[in-house]
Amino acid sequence: DLVDESFKRIAAVDGDVQAFLTLDEENARKQAEELQKSGKTGILNGVPIGVKDNIVTKGIRTTAASQILHNFDPIYDATVVNKLREAGTITVGKLNMDEFAMGSSTENSSYQKTRNPWNLDRVPGGSSGGSAAAVAVGEVPFSLGSDTGGSIRQPASFCGVVGLKPTYGRVSRFGLIAFASSLDQIGPITRNVEDNAHLLEAIVGVDPHDSTSANVPGESFAGNLTGDVKGLRIAVPKEYLGEGVSEEVKQSVLAALKVLEGLGATWEEVSLPHSKYGVATYYLLASSEASSNLARFDGIRYGYRAENAENLIDLYKKTRAEGFGDEVKRRIMLGTFALSSGYYDAYYKKAQQVRTLIKKDFEDVFESYDVIIGPTTPTPAFKIGEIIDDPLTMYANDILTIPVNLAGVPGISVPCGFSDGMPLGLQIIGRHFDEKTVYRVAHAYE
Ligand code: GLN
Repeated sequence: DLVDESFKRIAAVDGDVQAFLTLDEENARKQAEELQKSGKTGILNGVPIGVKDNIVTKGIRTTAASQILHNFDPIYDATVVNKLREAGTITVGKLNMDEFAMGSSTENSSYQKTRNPWNLDRVPGGSSGGSAAAVAVGEVPFSLGSDTGGSIRQPASFCGVVGLKPTYGRVSRFGLIAFASSLDQIGPITRNVEDNAHLLEAIVGVDPHDSTSANVPGESFAGNLTGDVKGLRIAVPKEYLGEGVSEEVKQSVLAALKVLEGLGATWEEVSLPHSKYGVATYYLLASSEASSNLARFDGIRYGYRAENAENLIDLYKKTRAEGFGDEVKRRIMLGTFALSSGYYDAYYKKAQQVRTLIKKDFEDVFESYDVIIGPTTPTPAFKIGEIIDDPLTMYANDILTIPVNLAGVPGISVPCGFSDGMPLGLQIIGRHFDEKTVYRVAHAYE
């Protein structure tokens, strides 16, 4: 029944919202029937889910929203997809995104523009824009996104849903098409915190196929949603309520802090002094890693292959020139430059050093506080087309989410009011592997 509902809703609204790139109705129905016959039980059993299109799914086209993978049919499932199958969820299709997860508005998809369900003239955020919009508009109750610099939290905030970036290493990246491997994490997008915790429980765990996945015991995140935050110590970085953050966003965060105070928590202002270097550091490191990761798209091994090439080098060049979009090319060029000999020390190495300082800022604060709270984004969702031609303004949108990826800690965005008729998000950040506290606070506030 749930799968039926999901396809009905998709048929009714996806023409407007355009969240899905590929639907897999036949398979989904078959799976649902088999599941019903099996008599299996479990909290996620039979729940429809949408998967971001940079997570590989055997037998379902996986494009990462790029033309270079327009005809790519993976021969295996990502670890998270296998885990979801074990948990009994049913994948209904693949969700739109910025090409290779590079962007903050889903406008960099080479296929279609996803629209924000709250206002079809606005972006849904990105890069997991399809994943957030599909949940917000009720096409699926659950989706998976990926977050390298904010790509789960920022679209969750723009679409008024709940999105968590887990601790780096918490969830296997095996089968996630790599963007920046030292930052990428897969995470859940849902309509409420409890669902989110259940979905995370299903996908966590060490994986022999991903050496960066961490061997920490699984936990019952959903079992810890007590509503109790008495005595909780909250840090509010002054940089997160500073310049560039809209007045309404600030007010919504202060109002949320009042709610938590009312529940017995306390808060104080702190500083994350190096977070101002976050955007610059991120774009150097993420682009450097991307330039290396995307070298595999050569026209030989996967997807698109240019025609009429004169020789092998020409084949590489033509395939990549035709297959990648502008933003991807921009990142490859920036990353290749930053890694080239003679510039390496000045850019890549320097950025690594600053990353260490940013991480230390978080560790210092977590010595005296349980969570860090601020807004997810400086403003609500902007209009489609408004800043797409201005990459630096687009990059600045990630100023509050990026430091969390650089530090490797977990962060969630939960809805916290409206500005201009559009939803806003409250960001709650925790210690490494302390998703439990993050969820508990998010749930108490929600
Ligand atoms: N918007 C950021 C970027 O363009 C973050 C993307 C992400 O988290 N995948 O790189």
